[in-house]
Amino acid sequence: MTHPELATAPAAAPRVRLSESAVQRLRAAVRGELIEPEHAAYEEARQVYNAMHDRRPALIVHAAGVADILAVVRFAAEQGLALAVRGGGHSVPGFGTCDGGVVLDLRRLRGIRVDPARRRVRAEGGCTWGELDHATNAFGLATTGGVVSTTGIAGLTLGGGMGYLSRRCGLSCDNLVSADVVTADGRFVTCSETREEDLFWALRGGGGNFGVVTSFEYRLHQVGDIYGGAIFFPVEGDILRSFQDRIAGAPRKLGAVFAFTKAAPLPFLPAEWHGKPVCAVIACWSGAIERGEKAVAPLRRLGPVAGAFIDRMPYPQINTLFDELLPAGLRQYWKGNFVRRLTDEAIAAHVDHAARTPTIESGTFLVPIDGACHAVAPEATAFATRDARFSTVIAGAWPDRADDEANVRWVREYWAALRPHSEEGGYVNFMSADDQDRVESNYGGHYQRLVAIKSRYDPANLFRVNHNIRPLA
Ligand code: FAD
Repeated sequence: MTHPELATAPAAAPRVRLSESAVQRLRAAVRGELIEPEHAAYEEARQVYNAMHDRRPALIVHAAGVADILAVVRFAAEQGLALAVRGGGHSVPGFGTCDGGVVLDLRRLRGIRVDPARRRVRAEGGCTWGELDHATNAFGLATTGGVVSTTGIAGLTLGGGMGYLSRRCGLSCDNLVSADVVTADGRFVTCSETREEDLFWALRGGGGNFGVVTSFEYRLHQVGDIYGGAIFFPVEGDILRSFQDRIAGAPRKLGAVFAFTKAAPLPFLPAEWHGKPVCAVIACWSGAIERGEKAVAPLRRLGPVAGAFIDRMPYPQINTLFDELLPAGLRQYWKGNFVRRLTDEAIAAHVDHAARTPTIESGTFLVPIDGACHAVAPEATAFATRDARFSTVIAGAWPDRADDEANVRWVREYWAALRPHSEEGGYVNFMSADDQDRVESNYGGHYQRLVAIKSRYDPANLFRVNHNIRPLA
């Protein structure tokens, strides 16, 4: 069986000949670095976070500013080349790279400006959540971001964005106030609720389909130290069943993610659990710190606790708990879906497949998207499934190429078992490369409006290295 993720061995990649004179003109136009296959830095520059994607772009440009982004977008459009935009580079389907096209790498664009009086932050497109959390935490402020600090703000926000603050503050895209964008026709525009409103609507959930976002402006919330951490339990259906009930009634300031995984050798977990399948709840109380212990207590009582690490900590720290377990260079394959209600059958399917979680790096995560996420009107943003209760991702991760087949199979079989108990669509940021045929169902009733906006802003589909919303004609 050939998986799309396995199909791009370097030897098979076409060697694209770029026009010498066009590259010379581009070189003269950019202040950043151009890296072609002969360049000493090429091997390193072509790597992305997921080691499954061994692709060979014809050109990689490390942009040094908006002027470079304008030049690269115009170059790729004129030359008819595929353009992969790389924010944090965490796309599991590998959309931060491509074979034979241009990679526009934004990772040197990491400027952040916090405006504490207005509770706003503006951050450039190459920032990670760790950088953003660090900058805003200095002012006792934060916005919803990802649960791993090395993930890019760009891809995560454009797909929707969920994390420990989403029950309280909404999705990352709900906190987007404005965005600076380079469009496919090489224009620079600022969009917001009152300017280029359609583009702004589409960016909030529609992924990287509509342009290169050079900077994001977010609303911030008062978040200082939080009370939280991880609680581990044996794999039992009742624990997930109780989690579903308790989180539904919990205050919005209690964020939590439910996980099935295989226990890493963590110091607070007795040795007999190491390497065993476990359930875990990662909790994050962002309300008054003295109420934290009481707020988290119902999650500690979900079942017999195998081990726990719960404490007061600065908010950015909770978003680093998985960092060490998930470094760049692992091989990864994910599939996801949305769930309105976890039925007994769905819970049984979880327990069955989670008990066979193949590696300690792999896990199945159920991220609640209730509370403030449900308070946003469904038509307000392109993010479509506001009435779901959980976004589920079966996240396979493993170190060795030899184990590709077995791990991909585990994810696919698990996902197939959940499918009858899930919604048609899922969260674009939890999809695999072979989920292109699900894009329409991911957007449900919003899809036709997205197609219309795509047709207006990118009629030639320059931005197609993504879960692609195809323009008309
Ligand atoms: P990239 O690979 O750089 O880009 C992803 C997509 O966005 C590509 O299509 C790319 O072309 C496009 N893109 C990137 N930058 C720009 C830009 N500036 N303008 C326009 N398009 C752009 N998701 C959550 O919601 N919550 C989580 O807690 C969470 N945790 C994660 C943890 C890990 C370890 C990983 C690997 C992923 C996680 N995700 C999470 C999923 C994450 O949202 C996606 O992988 C997301 O695409 C990553 O964004 P990136 O900028 O790092 O990726």
